[in-house]
Amino acid sequence: DAVIIDGKQVAADVIESVKSRRAMADIVPGLAVILVGNNAASSVYVRNKSAKAEECGFASQQFDLPVDTSEQEVLELINSLNNDTNIHGILVQLPLPKQIDSHQVIQSIAPEKDVDGFHYLNTGKLTTGDTNDALVPCTPAGSIQLIKSVMGASELSGKHAVVVGRSNIVGKPMASLLLQENCTVTVIHSRTNNPGEICRQADIVVAAVGIPNFIKEDWIKQGAVVIDVGINRITTDEGKTKLVGDVDFENVRSKVSAITPVPGGVGPMTISMLMQNTLDAAIRGKSLITKES
Ligand code: NAD
Repeated sequence: DAVIIDGKQVAADVIESVKSRRAMADIVPGLAVILVGNNAASSVYVRNKSAKAEECGFASQQFDLPVDTSEQEVLELINSLNNDTNIHGILVQLPLPKQIDSHQVIQSIAPEKDVDGFHYLNTGKLTTGDTNDALVPCTPAGSIQLIKSVMGASELSGKHAVVVGRSNIVGKPMASLLLQENCTVTVIHSRTNNPGEICRQADIVVAAVGIPNFIKEDWIKQGAVVIDVGINRITTDEGKTKLVGDVDFENVRSKVSAITPVPGGVGPMTISMLMQNTLDAAIRGKSLITKES
């Protein structure tokens, strides 16, 4: 039978480790979370992040800015947080209202406080394999950890991993992380010819598309490990809304060696990795101060 990877459990283990490392380092990491506007999903995400930060013993500061905030105002806030020694992590919840260029905003975050890992310095470090002090995007970092919960490093080496989706937030950094584990990596995207044929060759499939049931049973090789990043809200025949991933879970599960459910797979990992990134940023910040003084 397939292993159903328990993302909640792995995520809880990460949080326990964050709590004990924080206590050992004797620091209070400061996380600033910026929300512009009142997108319902974003508000929930931001609230969850702030609450989890408090639970970890961090000091979290949430900035709820009105929907008509100018780009300049956001840049000024980030500038002041960049210079605030009590703040170690800065997160801007995306998407931003259209008057604000999210590129400009993300690139204005000090790279050492960029806990989402979207700054060019961090993406550059990830792609060049200089990951010792890089902040890695949370969802792919969590996905790799879930793969490692069922496969050892030596098992991962040489495997064919297929990433479906090429976003900057998930697909591309996921491909970099898998390369770093010595996988042979193929990225499938919206212009790929014969995606099913390619996907069928995969020992590991990471789906990050945003289309319910996109990955069908006949796209999956017997014994593959499947990580479903997708979060799609659908309406059932009974008129209820429910969350599903990108993988046709019920039909795929009999074929795979391990698979993540939605919800309860990758989702809980993302927030745990954010806490881990914030702690790492704070610990590095502290050691820098110690070195300089
Ligand atoms: P995105 O829309 O930025 O990217 C989707 C990717 O899918 C694109 O690169 C596109 O090329 C590819 N794609 C679209 N149609 C395709 C097709 N027909 N064939 C092959 N590829 C196709 O989305 P994203 O931000 O990468 O997110 C992907 C999914 O993951 C969404 O459902 C999102 O909600 C979810 N997500 C979950 C988490 C989490 O914490 N679990 C975090 C981020 C995103």
